[in-house]
Amino acid sequence: MGFIARLRAVARATRPVDPEFAAVLERRWAELPESARTPGQLLGRHAVGCEGTHGVFPRCNLKCTPCYHSRDANQVRVDGPHTLEHVAAQMALLREQRGPVAHAQLIGGEVSLLEPDDHAAALRVMRNYGREPMSFTHGDFDYAYLERLALDANGERRIARLSFAAHFDRFMYGRRGITRPDSEAALHPYRRRFAEMFVRLEREHGVRYFLAHNMTVTPGNLDEVADVIREGARMGYGMFSFQPAAYLGDERRWKENYRQATPDAVWAQIERGAGTRLDHRVLENGDVRCNRAAYGYYVGERWYPVLEREDPRDLAMRDEVFFRHFGKVNLIGAPLPVIAVRVARVFARHPGAAVRTVRWVGRCLRRVGVVRLVRHRFRIRPVSFVMHQFMDAEQVAPAWELMRRGEQAADPALRETQERLAACHYTMAHPEDGTLVPACVQHAVLDEAENAQLRTLLPVVEVRTS
Ligand code: SF4
Repeated sequence: MGFIARLRAVARATRPVDPEFAAVLERRWAELPESARTPGQLLGRHAVGCEGTHGVFPRCNLKCTPCYHSRDANQVRVDGPHTLEHVAAQMALLREQRGPVAHAQLIGGEVSLLEPDDHAAALRVMRNYGREPMSFTHGDFDYAYLERLALDANGERRIARLSFAAHFDRFMYGRRGITRPDSEAALHPYRRRFAEMFVRLEREHGVRYFLAHNMTVTPGNLDEVADVIREGARMGYGMFSFQPAAYLGDERRWKENYRQATPDAVWAQIERGAGTRLDHRVLENGDVRCNRAAYGYYVGERWYPVLEREDPRDLAMRDEVFFRHFGKVNLIGAPLPVIAVRVARVFARHPGAAVRTVRWVGRCLRRVGVVRLVRHRFRIRPVSFVMHQFMDAEQVAPAWELMRRGEQAADPALRETQERLAACHYTMAHPEDGTLVPACVQHAVLDEAENAQLRTLLPVVEVRTS
């Protein structure tokens, strides 16, 4: 490649706005229902939303109550070639319909039941399609697995950065060493052990990481949420995500009156754990009845939001700097130096945005206070809180059926469900018919037939040991 051609390639890679990304964002915004076009909405202005795989490795070796997978899921063999073929097909459709970049979850049953080579290959496929992958796990695997995932057969690092979401809650049964936890606190050593494996991996092999902590919330563990946050925040998790339980998936695993753990009740407990009020309207992901999020950082034991809605200067930062100048700038998936150049190019073109950003950083530091910053040696730990409320299958199925026929529901509850589905933040792909569906449609409507089919295609072979 000649010098000029190389220069052009660099300029292209670091251009702040990719026209294709900008176009898919505009389309996403245009498709959002009016109820989701809020001042803090990220969908269609900065992201297309999150994506997830399905039907690629449905099996799991723990038992959750509730479990969002259909009853046949555990009868399907985990199979590397099947996983890779279907991950690739799903990613290709997502790439085609949702553009060049998105966060995507490698999810199904338990990801660590995949051979490390297959797991690594699946992550590579996802990245090749512009997806920033996150592996979903129950966290019950050893350091040797993680090392084999991150390194190739010669012991060379093959993955520079790993993202994992680890699901821990006391209503998951069968974890090694703690088959039936009697409290969330009893799981703290397991949460810590999981996070420490990544610290070690980084120390020994230079693999960077991001960890999210997932937890299903039922009336049975609602009042333990705050303690999970207080303890977990010291362990290295960068996100705490809570899912109030829904009547979805395998009905044999529905054990309590889940409706008592309402979104407001769960959010109140998350706030108790964070030690402060969490404003989930500053930045939004889709419909707030599905998703709430609060972005911020810890300094020591205290958590601070990145933006305060009461401060008009922060709202101006969101609207006039972030959404206006950075909304369509792709800030994920690329190497840090590339992102830094993209940011620098925006500031060079809009010096006023740079000034506002410097002032915002100053406000953030002042809110923490010099004494606290010095006392904690300027250690700022970004941590976000997220809540995702899946919908019950009995609502989703009829609402989706009407949507497929292009009909708006007359019943207010079904109409609300349709609004939420139309603003869905969590999408799954069906290459066989070229459709994209919300994850709760996948679990409420499509999983059952899909897993029944997979059960025949990939039967579990029982091995007799005696
Ligand atoms: S998967 Fe369902 S609950 Fe989740 S964001 Fe989409 S519509 Fe809402």
